Amino acid sequence: MIAHTPTLFGAVALVATILAFCLLLVGRVNRRDPLILTGAGLLVHALAYVCYTLYGQVSLLVSYGLGNSLLSLAVALYSAGLFRVREQSVPWRRIFLLPLSMLVGLMLLLDTLEPRMLLASLLLMGQCALLLYWAQRHQQWQGRAHLLLSIGAVISLVGLGLRVVAVLSGAAVEMRYDTSNLKQTLSVSIGTVTVMMFSIGLVLMAKERSEARLQHMALRDGLTSTFNRRAMLARFSQELQRSAGGGHSLAVAMIDIDHFKRINDVHGHQAGDEVLCHCVRQLQQRLRRSDCLGRWGGEEFLLLLPDTDREGALAMLDDLRRTLSGNPAQFAGQSIEVRFSVGLWCGVPQGADSTASLIAQADAALYQAKANGRNAVHLVALREAG
Ligand code: GH3
Ligand code: MG
Ligand code: MG
Repeated sequence: MIAHTPTLFGAVALVATILAFCLLLVGRVNRRDPLILTGAGLLVHALAYVCYTLYGQVSLLVSYGLGNSLLSLAVALYSAGLFRVREQSVPWRRIFLLPLSMLVGLMLLLDTLEPRMLLASLLLMGQCALLLYWAQRHQQWQGRAHLLLSIGAVISLVGLGLRVVAVLSGAAVEMRYDTSNLKQTLSVSIGTVTVMMFSIGLVLMAKERSEARLQHMALRDGLTSTFNRRAMLARFSQELQRSAGGGHSLAVAMIDIDHFKRINDVHGHQAGDEVLCHCVRQLQQRLRRSDCLGRWGGEEFLLLLPDTDREGALAMLDDLRRTLSGNPAQFAGQSIEVRFSVGLWCGVPQGADSTASLIAQADAALYQAKANGRNAVHLVALREAG
């Protein structure tokens, strides 16, 4: 089916305008909101297609030069939106170099047919390839919305490639904006798909991003960024099941900083906060990937060491204790010594063991470690590990 090309251009402009207003309506009036950048990109995209509809009725500078420069600017804004949605700094100069080159290049080649068509298509292809590259690179969270953006960029490359092939095969006249034929219908329809993919892709990426942030907030401790009690309980249940099912030994350590109240009293609450962060950093540096550390509350931490027997757990905790003793926290030019006591449960969990019962036993052992003079690990008397 062959569609009337200027009418198709108008339809793309309409779709882009509607999508732009939807995004601008819900986007926060904030320069940093990626939805605003995407909405702005869509508006510029729509303007570009309005210029195309005027081909033959206004000067070539407006309908072709300005039209393609605006389209290039729209792709630049989508690229900027991609960086914004990932909260990365936008390489503005690199991004806007291509639209600027498009404007200057088309002004110089305006009186030609093939060279100006090739320049416009190739520069846009370069931008789409860059967008594709950026969409694939630096993917930080496990969402898949960037795939939409990538598919949009690939489809766009195919559409632009069609135009290049047509020009190179001597059919440049068939690709003029006032000509209606199958190639034009295909190429402009691809433009519509691109608009939808880019905008929906960026919106869904923003959604994924905020979901990842919310999940992070729900499972992490606000001060130390380590796991919070809720996350630790979930992980503990999993490890308990896995260890009981497979007959593996599990170590559960309740760690409590010694005389932490004194640190607060002597150095101030802010210093106390820094000591908590320092402890987490020091401990995490020495843990294995499979180990799991979380803030249980106040100055208490829960540490899970899967597949670890008594000797292994005692050696690990002793290493952590010595590490922390040898690396005091620094605050306001002062060195603050940190010691901790540990209540340790270790063994192969049995059917009657639950997270609550194991934590209660580790807690009781911690109480003993404190009673025995602190800065020590107290092991619960228990069954031999696996
Ligand atoms: P012990 O050796 O017996 O564990 O004594 P302690 O002083 O460490 O324990 P205690 O339970 O008496 O005091 C814990 C203190 O930790 C009291 C509380 O104000 C402080 N604390 C709890 N959460 C925070 C926090 O997020 N930041 C700071 N700076 N202090 C906290
Ligand atoms: Mg304490
Ligand atoms: Mg305590």
